[in-house]
Amino acid sequence: MTQTTSLTAQSEALFARARRVTPGGVNSPVRAFKSVGGTPRFIREAHGAYLTDADGTRYIDYIGSWGPMILGHDHPAVREAVSDALQLGTSFGAPGEREVELAELVTRLTGAGKVRFTSSGTEATMSALRLARGFTGRKLIVKFRGNYHGHADGLLVEAGSGLMTNLDGALGTSAPSSAGVPEEYAALTLVSEYNDPAALDTLMAERGAEVAAVIFEPVVGNAGVLVPTPEFLAALHRVQDAGALLVADEVMTGFRLSINGATGLLGLRPDLTCWGKIIGGGLPVGAYGGRADVMDFVSPQGPVYQAGTLSGNPLAMAAGLATLRTLEADPGIYARLDAYTSRLADGLKALAQEAGVPVSVNQIGSMLTPFFQDAPHGSLRSYADAARSDTRAFGTWFQGLLARGVYWAPSQFESIFVSASHTDTELAATLEAVRAAFTDLN
Ligand code: PLP
Repeated sequence: MTQTTSLTAQSEALFARARRVTPGGVNSPVRAFKSVGGTPRFIREAHGAYLTDADGTRYIDYIGSWGPMILGHDHPAVREAVSDALQLGTSFGAPGEREVELAELVTRLTGAGKVRFTSSGTEATMSALRLARGFTGRKLIVKFRGNYHGHADGLLVEAGSGLMTNLDGALGTSAPSSAGVPEEYAALTLVSEYNDPAALDTLMAERGAEVAAVIFEPVVGNAGVLVPTPEFLAALHRVQDAGALLVADEVMTGFRLSINGATGLLGLRPDLTCWGKIIGGGLPVGAYGGRADVMDFVSPQGPVYQAGTLSGNPLAMAAGLATLRTLEADPGIYARLDAYTSRLADGLKALAQEAGVPVSVNQIGSMLTPFFQDAPHGSLRSYADAARSDTRAFGTWFQGLLARGVYWAPSQFESIFVSASHTDTELAATLEAVRAAFTDLN
């Protein structure tokens, strides 16, 4: 398939300008299309289920800003709430009513005793782990290969998302995933295999007394979608018997898989939970919370320091409140999101088979990844499973979709995110593009 430069001329020009003043031309690595090639589209505006790029081309959006836009872009309730808040000032550096309202709403929906707001998911996980260390007096953290918890030093170990892409799908070692992370930091992070209860039990039997926290994605999105087994979830809860805190990283899954997150959907009992993305409705917000006795260790109540100039920002709180209130007021929304995504999954499976392209689809609720490899649908469970995918075939397929107006996640190892603005119209157009993109592979 050929693409004329005129279709991407503005994006190309912006990318060239951006590369002169920003590393790689982007402010977050996966946006550069490094693993799929081609010109990253510079986006001018977004409404409902659509993005419009700098050249005026419209795309059906399956990234949803990497998760936050569960209601679709430019949702009227969120726009109104933010513009109302804007009339009253943009940042106070002092507490305000909206922070209390959002904390009340989040604790009510999630069962957390107390919650503290940050400005990103990275700050939430980083702070939750400092808290776990402060509370337990222990040093070690356990995480899972291919899970991504943001870019704090101690968590860039065998990490997924953009780092998994940069590894070209190869299995990592226990070394840091990024230059600039001292091995001494990485050594405090032990890595286990996702969905391998025996490996976790063995690790905890050997080192459990030193482990402050086990952090995990309740459903993985950052190695592509991986769904946990009940046996693995049981093993996760056994770490609490060893005095380690169980930390659910719901930055991606919180308020996405249900109004109570993956924690509610899967019946988890974490000690602490981290949130981001949807909790800020498209503005920069993260949060961590959970057991009140643990949260009371956070300053100024307790000895574990954590702060933020823009934490609890009134515009961000307004966007988060409007988003969560809209979700809560529409009890059918999660079933509709699941129905759309299930139909998309069914279409992908049928069209791949028709085209003779090996694809294995993992889907849960509004999260979905088609792994380009020959395996039964729903059977891929770990980083090693995901890493066997044919990233070149995925890249070709991705470009085929983009050329036909469908903006899929630009990496094999990411989830897509369906929004409440996606309707039958977008589904039909997407499946047409999917059909044609599969035939490009033959
Ligand atoms: N945790 C998970 C599960 C994530 O998916 C992400 C981001 O994608 C983060 C943490 C980091 O959040 P942020 O990018 O807001 O720092």
